[in-house]
Amino acid sequence: MPKFLSLCGAVRPTSARKTLLLAFAVALAGLSVGCSSPPASDAPESPHRNAQGFRNPSGVQVEKPLGDLLRWQWEKWRDGLPKAARQPTPQQAPDLAFLQANARAGAQMQPALTWIGHASTLVQASGLNVLTDPMFSQRAFMVQWLGPQRQQPPGLTLAQLPRIDVVLISHNHYDHLDRASVQALAAQAGGSPLFLVPLGLKAWMLEQGITRVEELDWWQERRVAGVDFTLTPVQHWSARGLSDHNHSLWGGWAVLGPDFHWYFSGDTGYSADFVATRQHLAARQAPALGGGFDLALIAIGAYAPRWFMKEQHVDPGEAVQVHLDLGAKRSIGVHWGTFLLSDEALDQPPLDLTRAREARGLNEADFSVMALGETRRMPKRTSGTPSAP
Ligand code: ZN
Ligand code: ZN
Repeated sequence: MPKFLSLCGAVRPTSARKTLLLAFAVALAGLSVGCSSPPASDAPESPHRNAQGFRNPSGVQVEKPLGDLLRWQWEKWRDGLPKAARQPTPQQAPDLAFLQANARAGAQMQPALTWIGHASTLVQASGLNVLTDPMFSQRAFMVQWLGPQRQQPPGLTLAQLPRIDVVLISHNHYDHLDRASVQALAAQAGGSPLFLVPLGLKAWMLEQGITRVEELDWWQERRVAGVDFTLTPVQHWSARGLSDHNHSLWGGWAVLGPDFHWYFSGDTGYSADFVATRQHLAARQAPALGGGFDLALIAIGAYAPRWFMKEQHVDPGEAVQVHLDLGAKRSIGVHWGTFLLSDEALDQPPLDLTRAREARGLNEADFSVMALGETRRMPKRTSGTPSAP
């Protein structure tokens, strides 16, 4: 059956270009019919892959028929969605002096999270400066003259970053894996960061001239300077073109250092993967390290309409359940406020998050959002007093 999914939300039409872009979406969808080819025979082997590509652990297929894509695009156009945001995403000047000093603090580094925008964050913890899904470009698409356009500038520019040790990529959708951004990072002063990517993406990185890259399957881990990075399963999919559907893996990242445990969801629908992640890591960690997370970065945007998005993107209510499943001490909502990928207004996710949080008896300290450029400092975990398993 012909299948087509949005490229993480597909093309977001604006005003006069709606018709043109709808036609583009239709054409793209039409081209996809029969174009999805099996992975090359030299693609990495994995128990999570069959002849058609990688599969979700849940067995849930996120693929939608072509008719569903057309229905979504039609209804979006008919209803004038998404509505304009009532207010811009909050933005503040970054605390560059702290970020730079903390970057060089080694074992004295204070755990700190800075929201750059969308799923891009800088996490400083356990002596490492780590970036998630770095995206600094104007458009999240294969070309820079079409596709979802950035609505707010990044909270940090590439030039303002401290030297990055590790870059984590969750999957290859354009709003998460941006060619110009990863190439710029690979060329940073002092040498390229280590890029950790899901299985099947190393070849693409090498094609971009990025050689300091390692690819991981779900549950595989890589230790960097005493910090364990584990790729964990989530429910999503991958594609950058018309013939590479699910040829590379997708996932979340669990990062366990001696004094801070954090998690990054990437893109995901709701599934049993978060309970499994907590149990898996609790079982294999030394008891003193415990099984919970000090911080979880959970995607809360790109969820409307639910009938189209539910299998691939959690809504804020489901994100709160993810927070609980992970046993996170605190969570921050990301993947919102930056690109228009779906039918909810740009500022709707935090409003829905507040309602969902209150419905579960949680407060703002448990699960909140940040301003672009904001840095939030967090306490180190105390050895011997693990989080709840
Ligand atoms: Zn995304
Ligand atoms: Zn995605």
